[in-house]
Amino acid sequence: MEMKKDFLPEIPEEFRENLGRNVLVTTIDKIAGWARSNSLWPLTFGTSCCAIEMMSAASAKYDWSRFGFEVARATPRQADLIIVAGTITSKMAPVLRRLYDQIPEPKYVIAMGACTITGGPFAKDSYTVIRGVDKIIPVDVYIPGCPPRPEALLQGMMALQQKIKLQKAYVIEKPKEEPEL
Ligand code: SF4
Repeated sequence: MEMKKDFLPEIPEEFRENLGRNVLVTTIDKIAGWARSNSLWPLTFGTSCCAIEMMSAASAKYDWSRFGFEVARATPRQADLIIVAGTITSKMAPVLRRLYDQIPEPKYVIAMGACTITGGPFAKDSYTVIRGVDKIIPVDVYIPGCPPRPEALLQGMMALQQKIKLQKAYVIEKPKEEPEL
């Protein structure tokens, strides 16, 4: 597209003719948000039946790699997202917190399924089940259901991408809250 020189009075002459074709003007925040949101590496934390749907979302049929989630990692040090899928017991809570602490910033959390979000069907009678993973780690996106389908997880992942795109590039520390375990 040809750009009128009148609108670009301070740009050097040698750049003007290419400006409409080869130059993108953006901000550091936007480019960092775009890059981060399209290259998330999930640490999977599937503890019960919701994990089957999570695995399905990664399989060839749903293929979460299409959206930039790529390879699931088995170590927190190579991940920047943790997908918690299933029941969390009080014995498991300190382990989950330690894994979360080992993920480098910036890091994100998806809570998948009723058990993860509230304790689900076990919340009423069990004394061992944590009634909400957000008592242990901060959650960015909640995906309700028992279990949520893979499409719901993909929708939640895309919601997380939108959230990341709105973040500042250098705001990387989340408030440190000590959970009551
Ligand atoms: Fe299983 Fe339902 Fe709990 Fe998911 S929410 S782990 S499907 S009982």
